[in-house]
Amino acid sequence: MARGKFIVSTNFKMNGSRAFLQDLVENLNRADLDSNVGTITIPSQLSNLRKDIAVGGQNCFWKSSGAYTGEISAEMLKDAGAEYVILGHTERRTLFKESDSLIGFKVASALAAGLKVIACIGETLSERESNTTLQVLFRQLQAIVDHVQDLNQEEKWEDVVIAYEPVWAIGTGRVATPEQAQVVHAAIRRRVEETVEGSVAEGMRIIYGGSVNLGNARQLAREKDVDGLFVGGASLKPEFVEICNVLRLAGEGNSDGSGDDDGGRK
Ligand code: PEP
Repeated sequence: MARGKFIVSTNFKMNGSRAFLQDLVENLNRADLDSNVGTITIPSQLSNLRKDIAVGGQNCFWKSSGAYTGEISAEMLKDAGAEYVILGHTERRTLFKESDSLIGFKVASALAAGLKVIACIGETLSERESNTTLQVLFRQLQAIVDHVQDLNQEEKWEDVVIAYEPVWAIGTGRVATPEQAQVVHAAIRRRVEETVEGSVAEGMRIIYGGSVNLGNARQLAREKDVDGLFVGGASLKPEFVEICNVLRLAGEGNSDGSGDDDGGRK
């Protein structure tokens, strides 16, 4: 399985009036975006967005239809034009008490409906400080692996992006260092190799989220196993366009001075 493009995704969360979001869309529509980077918006509402930016939902239910007031199904997101859905975000896990298993069900149902999934996993600060980071991440990952494997469609793995989002870095301004991100991303890839398959692990995009901004994006993007960035707060600012062009920025800093389009990735 070949690894897809480096991706940069927004997470607007429950933010923005129509007028505010329209400004953001116009800013993106005007931008000279690097075609080597896949850009995804996960809006609270959007219209008139350029066609080379994929759109996604921020959540969905695991049933396709029925008496589930307030929920939206993967089929409905797909029908409305979404290509992606975020599942397992820490705000869903903590504020809405979503369990590993529920998230696993949701991931499988979204894939079955033809959506691509950004599945989030991440440890809290106390879990990191008690050296249980990988244990926690592997537990969250296993629930996803089990449900995807139940689909018995190996090709569905191409539609799964894992977002490593340390809870202590989300919205705190305390970003993981590039080294910390690389160590965890490499461990997640090894785990996928052990529990699913080598080619799936090699092809899987593992993106980093948590206080990404223009100042730190470039160094994170240069790490070998960081295949994209997931951007919350900074996606609501004009600088987001520059974060989308992070590989160009990273390329400017190539030690060989080549400015290659791979952004000088290690
Ligand atoms: C997020 O909530 O997924 C996120 C990455 O937020 P922020 O960039 O604001 O830390």
